[in-house]
Amino acid sequence: MANIVAIVGRPNVGKSTLFNRLVGMRKAIVDETAGVTRDRHYGKCEWNGKDFSVIDTGGYTINSDDTFEMEIRRQVELAVDEADIILFVVDVMGGITDYDAAIAEMLRKSKKKVFLVTNKVDNNDRIYFSAEFYALGLGDPYNISSASGFGTGDLLDAVIESLPKEESPVEELDIPKVAIVGRPNVGKSSLTNALLGEERNIVTPISGTTRDSIHTRYNKFGQDFFLIDTAGLRKKGKVHEDIEFYSVMRSIRTIEESDVCVLMLDASQGIEAQDLNIFNLIVRNKKGVVVVVNKWDLVAKENNTMKEYTDNLKKRIAPFTDVPIIFTSVVNKQRVFDVIQQISVVYENRKRRIPTARLNEFFLPIIEDTPPPANKGKYIKIKFVTQLPTQTPSFAFFANLPQYVREPYKRFLENKLRENYDFKGVPIQIYIREK
Ligand code: GDP
Ligand code: GDP
Repeated sequence: MANIVAIVGRPNVGKSTLFNRLVGMRKAIVDETAGVTRDRHYGKCEWNGKDFSVIDTGGYTINSDDTFEMEIRRQVELAVDEADIILFVVDVMGGITDYDAAIAEMLRKSKKKVFLVTNKVDNNDRIYFSAEFYALGLGDPYNISSASGFGTGDLLDAVIESLPKEESPVEELDIPKVAIVGRPNVGKSSLTNALLGEERNIVTPISGTTRDSIHTRYNKFGQDFFLIDTAGLRKKGKVHEDIEFYSVMRSIRTIEESDVCVLMLDASQGIEAQDLNIFNLIVRNKKGVVVVVNKWDLVAKENNTMKEYTDNLKKRIAPFTDVPIIFTSVVNKQRVFDVIQQISVVYENRKRRIPTARLNEFFLPIIEDTPPPANKGKYIKIKFVTQLPTQTPSFAFFANLPQYVREPYKRFLENKLRENYDFKGVPIQIYIREK
């Protein structure tokens, strides 16, 4: 179940500061040292063992020709359409401005769960100013200071509380749930149709706001999986398709519901920031990934074209490059079946469990040979490693001084793991813990 929380509000009220606090600034810095291109307006928030996606709507320009007011309106409209919960941020010292009132009116009309957040409550005196905001008709304001973190815990408690309860799993079949994602026009519908048949495309959108995606089963030629299809929303989607904000929301929802994502690229165009953003969404959600470079028929080929494309792509998605890359032409039905096969390979890889004894037999000699570099004259010893019982492969290495084990060493461990076991297409988490 995907849960998307959107932050809306006029400029300068503190949306991006709140966003950074929710997704954890420390994490952002870690990402940067890893050289990962990030989307600074999308992240995941974890609180008391639950998590949800957060979007800072202010970070997305929707249509630069619009007036300022139209721009804000559209952001709020999209947030209302696509998010499950809305955090409406106002500046406690700024009073109710016309923009605030206009946004509040839109939010009241929507039937969405809205939290009114009075920000910049940096000291107790400022709490009194928040009473004024009852006039917005959105209930109790949550007093917070995004700058200091005051009040954000209570806000998060309330947000988590209002998330839909985990439904009891409906006879979960052990077959992959697959999402096809990518920028507009890369060939997602064409691939879907090639797999499921043209008639899939004439599913009439269910009126109302239902966003339940359709799972269509593909069970042919010895392959079996569910394709997560948001066809019910696609018609409406066409209107906004080119808006990055919109396609990010759409991607998040499908990615979160899936086990394996097929990321489609258009070979006739360069690899763009948006492609990498979607790749990172998949990785951050710890889903399996198969990269499909489509429209290969449009590319003038020489001996090395495929290798050059692959090398360049790997440079862009580094450090996680251990992914299947398939060059397709969906219109010519070229290598479509390879895609299907790789989906099940990645799905199996993601479920791989390595017994603790074998893991230690494998790793301890490697660590003995190449231990973590000493830090401040202290030697770091790793004595034991085990795979954690999580849905996606994650490994805990127990050390005397876990805080001194740096990112490059973790990557070294991950690479060793990948050399020896097949984790192609699967993000791996490496944790160093106190023994
Ligand atoms: P956005 O345009 O809504 O994303 O707002 P920003 O997050 O960029 O913040 C606008 C300004 O308000 C910046 O100068 C922030 O440092 C400041 N700000 C954000 N949160 C707080 C807060 O809780 N207290 C105070 N005093 N300033 C804040
Ligand atoms: P979507 O927006 O990602 O769902 O993309 P579509 O499936 O609607 O495809 C966009 C356009 O690309 C359509 O005109 C397709 O016919 C075309 N297209 C899709 N796959 C291929 C391909 O392999 N080669 C070529 N040349 N065109 C393709």
